[in-house]
Amino acid sequence: MAENKQQAEQLDVLAATQSVIKKALDKLGYPDEMYELMKEPIRMLTVRIPVKMDDGSTNIFTGYRAQHNDSVGPTKGGVRFHPSVTEKEVKALSIWMSLKAGIVDLPYGGGKGGIICDPREMSFRELERISRGYVRAISQIVGPTKDIPAPDVFTNSQIMAWMLDEYSRIREFDSPGFITGKPLVLGGSHGRESATAKGVTICIREAAKKKGIDLDGARVVIQGFGNAGSFLAKFMHDAGALVVGISDAYGGLYDPDGLDIDYLLDRRDSFGTVTKLFRDTISNQELLELDCDILVPAAIENQITEANADRIKASIVVEAANGPTTMEATRILTERDVLLVPDVLASAGGVTVSYFEWVQNNQGYYWTEDEVEGKLEAVMVGSFENIYNLARVRKVDMRLAAYMIGVRKMAEASRFRGWV
Ligand code: NAD
Repeated sequence: MAENKQQAEQLDVLAATQSVIKKALDKLGYPDEMYELMKEPIRMLTVRIPVKMDDGSTNIFTGYRAQHNDSVGPTKGGVRFHPSVTEKEVKALSIWMSLKAGIVDLPYGGGKGGIICDPREMSFRELERISRGYVRAISQIVGPTKDIPAPDVFTNSQIMAWMLDEYSRIREFDSPGFITGKPLVLGGSHGRESATAKGVTICIREAAKKKGIDLDGARVVIQGFGNAGSFLAKFMHDAGALVVGISDAYGGLYDPDGLDIDYLLDRRDSFGTVTKLFRDTISNQELLELDCDILVPAAIENQITEANADRIKASIVVEAANGPTTMEATRILTERDVLLVPDVLASAGGVTVSYFEWVQNNQGYYWTEDEVEGKLEAVMVGSFENIYNLARVRKVDMRLAAYMIGVRKMAEASRFRGWV
């Protein structure tokens, strides 16, 4: 019974992230009040969204928007459409966004949104109605200088476009800085779509250097073949690595000689599904335990746990997904000398280029893809080095080092404002 409770706590992503925030603030010498401020979002809105379905019926969907801390600047973070969205998950995701903004030094706090729905079962028009309904429901608390949404799991640039249009109608002015991850013609940024994967690629390259692994010929396994996972597979393939395993929500594919990534990219659907086309598949759990040098969870939370951490064969794990590794698994991997690059660093490329998009919208002047990529490269390499070095100096794992850097600016800003 006690063991079950312990396991449930480990899978509770909010409790898990709170425990690391507490440790990070303690290490930095902040008082308990600072932890009390940071352990939960400062604002959490629950909304009910009525949506007319194509068959004439009305479905009422539940959605959330969490704003973790706005001491540094407006909050920012994606909107997830998924059947397993929960209030706790959205809260944890908003905290992770605050940490990412601190790590890559953006003038933001963290925000996050989610709707409990399954977009794979909805028509294009139903998706438009739910996207617009969500914006109407949260319009009072969002805006270009308040809280700026973006894409996340199962949302994309089309959904951002509908959300932008709805917001502009409500406010009665053109407002491209309200949302990021937009199509280029609506003020999107070059390089935004592939930004998360670019950031992950930079982290993999830096981690490989530290471990003395040559990326050319290195065997890579990627869980998830959506926005993050599919671009990453392409970048790894182009860098000469052998992508030996990939997966989606329905299973995984494995080829020790390397998968045909261009073919898989061509056949994947807009929800990142490709394995349904194959008979010879493996399970997601088998995929995580494949023999490889680099493992990248790029799908959902709680994939590497104490139940499988001992069997992970990779010597580098880079978290493209948010929260894929439990704290217990982090301890086991660290003890086994696996270099674990945490989500709040590895997946910060997305919010970094979202910030670039917002800056371009605010100044009305747009950058080339090379400019965006050059700036992203500098930010990610600098952030990786800071965290890697702090972990070495303070003798902590990279997750705790990342949290220490991630909370520092927010804590300082909260103190200057006189909140704590
Ligand atoms: P996506 O919707 O484009 O793709 C999700 C992928 O995960 C799909 O291939 C899907 O089939 C797979 N998946 C879904 N449920 C699964 C399950 N139960 N088991 C295995 N696979 C499953 O989403 P994305 O934008 O690529 O996001 C993936 C992860 O990366 C999420 O944790 C997200 O929060 C994180 N992330 C994304 C961005 C971004 O800019 N897209 C930025 C930072 C972090």
